[in-house]
Amino acid sequence: MSKFIIEHDRPNCIGCGACAAITPDFWVMDDDGKSDIKNSVHQKNEKGEIVLEILDIEESDFSKNKEAAESCPVNVIHLKKKETGEKII
Ligand code: SF4
Repeated sequence: MSKFIIEHDRPNCIGCGACAAITPDFWVMDDDGKSDIKNSVHQKNEKGEIVLEILDIEESDFSKNKEAAESCPVNVIHLKKKETGEKII
């Protein structure tokens, strides 16, 4: 069972590329200049625009995604404990 959740506040991503450079297994740059979490679930607004990307991850993938989150200059990558929703970063 997955233990953590990654959340990406995509609208506020400035497209610096750090997350995709550091953790390419999970992060990729899109044609619009922002990053995406690969294979994530999308929350959309009424216009159909992505407002949040979410992905469950295993404990073994926590460190590399924490590095991605720490590299983000605008703090739009967050990691939470799945069970409690506690925000780690
Ligand atoms: S590190 Fe942050 S600002 Fe840079 S591309 Fe990734 S999510 Fe966007």
